[in-house]
Amino acid sequence: MGEQEKKYVEEAFQTNWVAPLGPNVDIFEKQLSEYLGLKGAVSLSSGTAALHLALLALDVQKDDVVLCQSFTFAASAFPITYCGAEPVFIDSEMDTWNMDPELLRMALQEMKDKGKKVKAIIVVHLYGMPAKMDEILDIASAYGVPVIEDAAEALGSRYNDRNCGAMGKISILSFNGNKIITTSGGGALVSNDEGSLKFARHISAQAKEPVPYYLHHQIGYNYRMSNICAGIGRGQMEVLADRIEVRRSHFETYKNKLSDIKGISFLEEPVGFFSNRWLTTMILDEEVFVNDAVEAMRQALETKNIETRALWKPLHQQPVFDSCRSFLNGASDKLYKTGICLPSGSNMSKETLEMVIDEIKQVLSNLTKA
Ligand SMILES: *Cc1c(COP(=O)(O)O)cnc(C)c1O
Repeated sequence: MGEQEKKYVEEAFQTNWVAPLGPNVDIFEKQLSEYLGLKGAVSLSSGTAALHLALLALDVQKDDVVLCQSFTFAASAFPITYCGAEPVFIDSEMDTWNMDPELLRMALQEMKDKGKKVKAIIVVHLYGMPAKMDEILDIASAYGVPVIEDAAEALGSRYNDRNCGAMGKISILSFNGNKIITTSGGGALVSNDEGSLKFARHISAQAKEPVPYYLHHQIGYNYRMSNICAGIGRGQMEVLADRIEVRRSHFETYKNKLSDIKGISFLEEPVGFFSNRWLTTMILDEEVFVNDAVEAMRQALETKNIETRALWKPLHQQPVFDSCRSFLNGASDKLYKTGICLPSGSNMSKETLEMVIDEIKQVLSNLTKA
């Protein structure tokens, strides 16, 4: 937390605005839409809820197809199934680790040939790195399919002077506890499309019609963010720029201090890409390190009380999505096998970071092939 969050939450108590609407909600939504340069933002109970509403706003229905990046957290795809639609997974390219535009083109063509209706494409900016949006948006528009940006991990990231979260037809953000800024739990749907914003605002508040009794023409959801949580978000928006600076500096420090180890690499920003570096990730070359080096490294660091994690297990590898079609090139399988997330918290001190780096060096020296 920064300095102001408590003040805004206390304001909510003092004014008795302890509801899923109120001044903090209005201000937080305004901060978000202004930051992204968009017409509006609807703050919600989670990023997952935001994605569900984004799909509903695009009229995703039973048996429709939604194309989704495979290399991501499962919440990028779960809401597709809430709509009764069919997720089809698209693998990544190695420059950004996000949706491969060429595989996307193949998938769109195959679905078209088979007469399947593709209602939306969910692109993720994983770990804060923007996807190749120009290519993706061009291909999507050639097939007339809207793009949803899952910018849950990428608030503050930029792509050729455009904001992540401001390029698709609809975008979603997450303010879960682990994200770059948090409302303890929450999310938002952001867009320039007035229709989608209006729809999300209505449906997220139980689809209650504006009449003095309870009238519903549509199925609603209870997905709004409370004025308490929005108070936290309001304070967090004031420190977002600092958080990005800190996370980027963690990345630079890891890279500078570890890069001379043989077999280690980091994901660089291609020209025109700016990542918020939500998490610093590192790749261990299979030629240099022993089998299952990532898990061995994780376990060794855990004994030092240092938490690391494997990268997201691709969705096409998840048992729950066994029956889904996917378009693969081996990229996410390889990333999952060789990549690791390093401690990246905004509150990590310089001393802690130095200690972590020393331990990583130690551990890696024991994991190189003989
Ligand atoms: C966190 C996350 C979500 C879900 O957000 P919640 O607020 O936790 O529901 C969706 N997609 C990605 C890529 C995420 O990292």
